[in-house]
Amino acid sequence: MSLIHSFTLGAFRCHAMEGGTQRLDGGAMFGVVPKPLWEKRITPDSRNRISLAMRCLLIEHPDGLVLIDTALGNKEDAKFREIYGIENAGQHGRTQLETALAEAGYHPADVKTVINTHLHFDHAGGNTWVDGEDGVRLTFPNATYFVQSGDLEFARRQNERTRASYLPHNFEPVAEAGRFRLLEGDGEVLSGISVRLTPGHVPFHQSIVVRSGGETLFYLADVMPTRHHLPLPWIMGYDVEPLRTLESKRRLVGEALAEGWWLFFEHDHDVVMGRLQGAGKGAELVDQVAAPTP
Ligand SMILES: [Zn+2]
Repeated sequence: MSLIHSFTLGAFRCHAMEGGTQRLDGGAMFGVVPKPLWEKRITPDSRNRISLAMRCLLIEHPDGLVLIDTALGNKEDAKFREIYGIENAGQHGRTQLETALAEAGYHPADVKTVINTHLHFDHAGGNTWVDGEDGVRLTFPNATYFVQSGDLEFARRQNERTRASYLPHNFEPVAEAGRFRLLEGDGEVLSGISVRLTPGHVPFHQSIVVRSGGETLFYLADVMPTRHHLPLPWIMGYDVEPLRTLESKRRLVGEALAEGWWLFFEHDHDVVMGRLQGAGKGAELVDQVAAPTP
């Protein structure tokens, strides 16, 4: 029984952390792909939902612990949890992400840097924590939180289509505490850890690139949420700019093949990461690392 998969990337000790699961509509997850095609690869439940991980990445960096994405947190009510099939309770009343952190030997106060790929609830919900009469507080009290400035702006400029995913209690308390460091496009956050815009799911979605000792890991987030999204046109119906997702995927798949990147899946229920082999449509995922079994 474990919630983490620990591995080494060059000089970095890393831990894939299972932050819980959610269930989302299979049709929405595969956009224009007809059900007879996607259900051959992944079986939906009786409500047509598929089970998805909320997998974060913890990196032991010389400048302090770095956490990429924060899963869902504990602030949502029973109705929300039922609709999205959320299972992320941890031990001692904490979240599963915090239980996973403890398994790696750490406490939330040890995290120095949080990087949010974007501010949707299943990626940034764990930024904050509700604790009885204390109200909503930062989950990682000593951390600086990095996000694209464009995504924070997009999160605040809500409309009928985007509102359900951007919940202010996941990011406004961080902003009010002055703990956001806003990024403008691609760049290095810490030595060996940089961000890369992979727009489409949302206009300022970013993926995280970790490089050390000649190895590269690419934390995809929602540009390619599961290994089933490897084919270029398998794009989520949730994406606000699907044709930009297509180009983001085309570019990263080319580089991943050429440079042997590890592709790290945030939402794949069964596979943490793998590398691409082959060409074009025939590219397949090899060296697959299975998710730990909670
Ligand atoms: Zn997501």
